Amino acid sequence: MYVTSKKEKRPSTRRKDTKKSGLTQVIGQIKSVVIEKCRQWHVGLDDMKRDGESLTLYGHTLGRSATCPCCGKRTTRVHRYSLRKIQCTEWLGHHTTLVLESRHMVCTTPKCERKIFAEPLAMTRPYGRHTYEVEERIRNEALGQTARKASETLSMQHIWISASACIRVLRQMGRVNPEVRTSGYVGMDDFAKRKGHKYMCAIVDHYTREVLAVFDSRYGQEIIDWLKSHPEIKVVTRDGSQSYASIITAASGLIMQISDRFHLMQNLKKDAVEPIRTLLGQKRMKQPYPYPSEDEAYRYIMDAILGMGDAMHRSKVKTYYDVRRLKDEGKSIAETARLLGIRSQKVYKVLGTDMSKLLSTDQKQALKVAREMARIVSDGCITYTAVAKKLQGKVESRIVHRCMKPITERYKVLREEVRLHNKALGEKGKTVRVKADSIWKYIVTGETTSKKLLKLHETHPEVERVIQICILFRKMLHDEDDAPTMDDWLKEAWKCPVKEIRGFAEYVSNDRKAVEMACRTRFNNGLLEGTVNKAKAIKRSMYNRANADVLRAKMVFGGMKWDWNYHLN
Ligand SMILES: [Zn+2]
Repeated sequence: MYVTSKKEKRPSTRRKDTKKSGLTQVIGQIKSVVIEKCRQWHVGLDDMKRDGESLTLYGHTLGRSATCPCCGKRTTRVHRYSLRKIQCTEWLGHHTTLVLESRHMVCTTPKCERKIFAEPLAMTRPYGRHTYEVEERIRNEALGQTARKASETLSMQHIWISASACIRVLRQMGRVNPEVRTSGYVGMDDFAKRKGHKYMCAIVDHYTREVLAVFDSRYGQEIIDWLKSHPEIKVVTRDGSQSYASIITAASGLIMQISDRFHLMQNLKKDAVEPIRTLLGQKRMKQPYPYPSEDEAYRYIMDAILGMGDAMHRSKVKTYYDVRRLKDEGKSIAETARLLGIRSQKVYKVLGTDMSKLLSTDQKQALKVAREMARIVSDGCITYTAVAKKLQGKVESRIVHRCMKPITERYKVLREEVRLHNKALGEKGKTVRVKADSIWKYIVTGETTSKKLLKLHETHPEVERVIQICILFRKMLHDEDDAPTMDDWLKEAWKCPVKEIRGFAEYVSNDRKAVEMACRTRFNNGLLEGTVNKAKAIKRSMYNRANADVLRAKMVFGGMKWDWNYHLN
């Protein structure tokens, strides 16, 4: 049952061809790798020290002479020696540093501006603290993520660099737009750096899909200069803004401009759909319910107060107020008596009467709150119960009821009218309701399921005409078979009864060339919309350190197969 098989022998990891001194040979090979690398850098290795996880190579530059970076002449005169610390890529998990004894030379050319220069090194730039390889890793990490994350990732590769230093590298890279070659077909669009405050502009190549340039402003001179420095550009796509049109024209009259189809259709949507709905009678507003103003309410309330009590009392109060009014107008006693049809003695007597004795307690109570009540009513409180509730404790609700009566009666009628009007609107709306979306769908596809829209030519021939003008524009823009020419369409649109459509026609005729090009070519600004979207994502990942230079670096160099290998000989 049990099958015993010979255990397979594990292949030995020891090399067969090595003799007893194999380890020495391996160490020798490692050493030669290090020395070989140093030779590439023109560095002679002196020593190598290991301290925990860091490895330090000590070396000196080879060769007797060095070339002056200013005049290009070789010299052998040494001015002084100095030590430079250069960070290298890791060596088997060790943070590796090269401490290099380099020379400062004296230039022997008499007229050279540089008297003394540091000798150029093969592994790093002047003042460089990292080798080219390390620099490239820093760039690659910093471009693809936030600086803090990049700093962390690099520390895993045993490259020690702070987040601020990563940002500094990016800022340096993004200071200016790089020198690039374009395919001749580019697009431009703007995006917000801070919405409503600061806008930037990006230029993208339609063929390579790379971001070629990012500008700090939307319509600046630097964009014109950039376009001028690229005479190979034949076609520029843009949105419908006149500012871009004028910038491109200013740069070169030979550049063909293409307006974006999507933006054109969006403008048409904005201009056409709502006016069509208005024409279909759907946009009539509901009336708000009326409320009296404070003064008007006060007048009603005062009338009510003066109307309290029996007939005798009312006539007394009325006489009193009439006499007082006429006296305030400056009439004499005799004149007052004549006007009111009473005896002058009575007028005299009335003027001597104390108001508080004349009025009933109810009236006095009501007078105290009359102003407040008027304010409550004008604030939108028309029913007597609601007003009484608000005045609770100040006055009896019976009195409130009495005071509110004239207002309630008058406004009951007015409010009923509004209610009926609004109800009629609602019912009417139900029969002709067409959604804005279905109108737009009808324009875009030329087909609709809405019965109302299908019957338009019977019920609303003028609306049908407006929709047909929109459909014709769509056909023209998409270069369909039965599309009208631009001239024909413009003629139709000028005659349109809707003023928004006429405005749109004017906009199209102002930008006519670009729109005609949009009808004929396949280029559009969709690529730019994607770029802008990406810019926003980058911007938001940079927290508050989003400097325009950093953004430019990430946009331009982040997406490019950029040739950084200039350090390879
Ligand atoms: Zn020189």
